[in-house]
Amino acid sequence: MTNVAVLGTGIMGAGMARSLAREGIDVTVWNRSAEKAAVLELPVAPDPATAVRDADVVFTMLFDAASVAEVMREAAPAMKPGAVWVQTSTVGLDGTAELAELAGRHGVAFVDAPVLGTRQPAENGQLTVLAAGPEDVRDRVAPALAAISAKIVWVDTEPGAGHKLKLAANAWVLTVVAGTAQSVALTEALGLEPRQFFDLIAGGPLDSGYAQLKGKAMLSGDFTPAFALGGAAKDAGLIRDAAASVGVATDLSAALAALFARAGDPDDDMAAVIRATRPPA
Ligand code: NAP
Repeated sequence: MTNVAVLGTGIMGAGMARSLAREGIDVTVWNRSAEKAAVLELPVAPDPATAVRDADVVFTMLFDAASVAEVMREAAPAMKPGAVWVQTSTVGLDGTAELAELAGRHGVAFVDAPVLGTRQPAENGQLTVLAAGPEDVRDRVAPALAAISAKIVWVDTEPGAGHKLKLAANAWVLTVVAGTAQSVALTEALGLEPRQFFDLIAGGPLDSGYAQLKGKAMLSGDFTPAFALGGAAKDAGLIRDAAASVGVATDLSAALAALFARAGDPDDDMAAVIRATRPPA
């Protein structure tokens, strides 16, 4: 029986913890703000080291590389021999290299495992995991990864490979959302009904489920977060840094980072990027 610790029970970690528990896996959770862990009605540890003590698999689902490093500096020394750290937060390429190095210093096996999918797929155990890590740990993490996902892609054995594919995918997601906001703002400002744009693309080669979903939120003004603005701004910065490191043009990723960063409350859903595209009031 696999025993799992989930460090970080925000939007994504909470859904993952529930999906693990639903599959009969023993789950212990820890979160910096304890009240977000308490509502899960799962065993809550008082600190990261206690959370991981008996775990075979430790998931980190925190905001960025700095928060993961801070938490794992405390937790890694307490992990039992043979336990595996599955790092699912989006932390970028440099962040993944730093965290893999931290794992190595503590003799902990490390899997770079960012995910595709948002609040609902996390709740339903329907994420896509983009994994990279040594072949000899894959059987050990298989039951836990199966519980949170509909699809597991083993990209490579080297940490970082999962994140390379994740950043390419998120570059697409952020571009579609900001592009949708641009078209909504244009139709509105040019005196058309924005619905005309969504009806125009519906069902054809220009359509996108994501554009329709986030467009609906832009038009209704319901910015209940599934993927928050703050995370979108962070990811656009990680994409810009990765692009710059290999000579890919950064004009678009830099513009995306700026737009998501100036769209207001970072806890609102990223559909709120519409606020940064509309003409000033
Ligand atoms: P979230 O709801 O904002 O949760 C962030 C988590 O990080 C919370 O548990 C928060 O703790 C914790 N945290 C932040 N700074 C910390 C620190 N310094 N020390 C300890 N804990 C800290 O975000 P989320 O949407 O679940 O995203 C989590 C990760 O998944 C991010 O890397 C994000 O980019 C990635 N991701 C998100 C989605 C999505 O659609 N939402 C999809 C794929 C990947 P508190 O509760 O105490 O603030």
